[in-house]
Amino acid sequence: MKRNFRFYLALWIAKLASFTLKILRRNATNFPGKVALTICPDFLGKIEKPKTIVGVTGTNGKTTVCNMINDILAQNGYQFINNKYGSNINEGITTTLLQGSSFFGKAKKELAILEIDERSANKVYPYLTPTYLVCTNLFRDSLMRNAHTEFISDILNQYIPKETIMIENADDLICSHIAEENQKIYFSIDRLETDTESFQNITRDIRVCPRCYAPLEYEYVRYHHIGKAHCSKCDFGTPKPTYHVTNLDLENKKMTVAKGEQEEVYHLISDNIINIYNMLAVIIVLKQLGLSQKQINQSFQNLKIVETRYSKEEYQGYEIVTQLAKGMNPIACSLAFDYTKKQPGNKAVILILDDLHEEAHGSENTAWQYDTDYEFLNDESIKQIIIAGPRYLDSYIRCLMADIPAKKMVHEMDLLEATSKLKLEGIDKIFILHDLYSITETKQIKQKVKEMIDVTFGDVP
Ligand SMILES: [Zn+2]
Repeated sequence: MKRNFRFYLALWIAKLASFTLKILRRNATNFPGKVALTICPDFLGKIEKPKTIVGVTGTNGKTTVCNMINDILAQNGYQFINNKYGSNINEGITTTLLQGSSFFGKAKKELAILEIDERSANKVYPYLTPTYLVCTNLFRDSLMRNAHTEFISDILNQYIPKETIMIENADDLICSHIAEENQKIYFSIDRLETDTESFQNITRDIRVCPRCYAPLEYEYVRYHHIGKAHCSKCDFGTPKPTYHVTNLDLENKKMTVAKGEQEEVYHLISDNIINIYNMLAVIIVLKQLGLSQKQINQSFQNLKIVETRYSKEEYQGYEIVTQLAKGMNPIACSLAFDYTKKQPGNKAVILILDDLHEEAHGSENTAWQYDTDYEFLNDESIKQIIIAGPRYLDSYIRCLMADIPAKKMVHEMDLLEATSKLKLEGIDKIFILHDLYSITETKQIKQKVKEMIDVTFGDVP
């Protein structure tokens, strides 16, 4: 795109804004990009971009995938720009490119790793062509923002450039059919022992064939609409994967990834199915960028899922797990509930969903609570459920509807007050399932739990 005076004016003013914010030690994540786009609406098209752009989109796992790629590239000495500290919408992406460019708008680095919000497709892809675009999965998400998966699929199909090589989850029938005409690399996990014949979740975002509307037939179901399926009438179905996990050895924390006849073994950094999919996407991106199995695997050995998403700590014989559940996102919540249920031992759950937080940009209705599988929490191994925070009444009603006995539950607005009712007797593990915006509160709850354990053990300082 031809540059004009307006572009340079936008560039310099936005750079000045970014510089000023840095001096003031404010996080310059969105504002400079907003300034640039206000002055020059097609700024994103005019600014020079790095030669190779890896985009990561999809409902769940974007941030985790980007974090892993960023960490491993940095460990292997790669120079690149990314929007790790920025937002994943057009303004944040503009800020990242702006900060990664020279005074005359030339790209300073040859590689960019960009998390791109699927809802921003129409504002990003007309101006920026990713070399590779990972699509982790597509599910229903915040209803008010994302409507439904058909809507998101439509805007992705309409705006993803034809030249982009898609890296897609083959086991997701919605995601794997995005950008049909593009070159594709598919990833998949072969059938697992835990897969089922029937559906265990309340929601399923694809029920009939989008081409001929005949019912879909599943060979096996993993969770929600993830699994292997085909149309009962036409040739629509799960595509043949390029890379697939042939052996998942959770006990020894290993997985075997096959591409054709070639097999490679990787260290597993998580036993959570969604993170195993995330790792698979990361492996493919890094291999495309030229890293070897050895380089990737070495990095996996000393990598952890970011603590704000998952942490596990042994404390005085108890295991304390914190896990992101994400209000407004029924799939993320259901997966967290399912994971909690399936962990061995007797558990107590502290649930603090907070989609009313101001950073959640004002919540919508509570429909997402009814798309979430609270039924998974109704399990023998879960001895107590403590529900707290602004959504405590909504979550409590939903738990009652899942037939969880009221005597098993504590429901209270105040987080620490509610936590003080935790019964440690007969419990091996405490799960704190929290929201994206409740990181500080989660730390306080964890601290409170530790103090209660200390009191129980009688060695209060
Ligand atoms: Zn069909």
